[in-house]
Amino acid sequence: MSKPLIVITGASSGIGAATARLLSSEGHPLLLLARRLERLEQLGLPETLCRRVDVTDRDALQAAVREAEERFGPVDAIVNNAGAMLLGRIADQEAEEWDRMVDLNIKGVLYGIRAVLPGMVARGAGTIINVSSVAGRKTYPNHTAYVGTKFAVHAMSENLREEVASAGVRVVTIAPGAVETELLSHTTDARIRGDYEAWKKSAGGALDPQAVAEAIAYAYRQPPNVTIREIVLAATGQES
Ligand code: NDP
Repeated sequence: MSKPLIVITGASSGIGAATARLLSSEGHPLLLLARRLERLEQLGLPETLCRRVDVTDRDALQAAVREAEERFGPVDAIVNNAGAMLLGRIADQEAEEWDRMVDLNIKGVLYGIRAVLPGMVARGAGTIINVSSVAGRKTYPNHTAYVGTKFAVHAMSENLREEVASAGVRVVTIAPGAVETELLSHTTDARIRGDYEAWKKSAGGALDPQAVAEAIAYAYRQPPNVTIREIVLAATGQES
């Protein structure tokens, strides 16, 4: 019997792309979403629908999920992974950067949840996996707005888990430390980027995205009556 559909947001690079490759290799049909469609298609995965969707567009996200369900059947899991980390000091960071992170890291996750949750509750099964961060548990220099969004992901995940547990829907929070991806490249302040790179180096390097993909797949693979509520993982040398 073929395996059920999984939706992955932000699958065009980093953690999302690694997760797409891994879950595809395990036989799942996928819906992959990001703004760079060509990067999704370059993954070249079988039984995969790639759609150019900005996850801050609720209707577009919903429409892509419906299209994938018509082709592959009901969504069994969503990995709400799309996110941005725009580091800065609150006194001088452009407020537009806060808006982008709030819209993407918080509202994008809510929109992903809404696109799949009614069907999961009706079927009494499904898994929602939200990618937060260790910055959703503790603070770091120059991270004020970003930690705000990631603390929100942790809080929303736990509250949602309580809300849907009795309906048989699992909610998982994944909280990685530093991972070697494109994430830092979008921070505009070159000095902050340099300090972050130096910090990663002092920790002996960041995690490979594959390690996070393995954690996501591990949580998903559990039997339906087992919920891994949270996985926190970081490079061994990362102290903070
Ligand atoms: P990347 O920058 O490599 O990946 C981010 C992904 O999000 C890309 O696929 C990007 O695709 C997508 N994305 C960005 N904006 C949008 C949007 N508006 N709509 C749809 N997709 C969007 O970083 P990571 O892989 O590191 O990040 C993945 C998640 O992991 C994020 O939530 C991040 O906060 C979290 N995380 C990362 C850590 C790290 O150190 N790297 C540590 C802890 C958590 P595109 O640009 O094509 O739209």
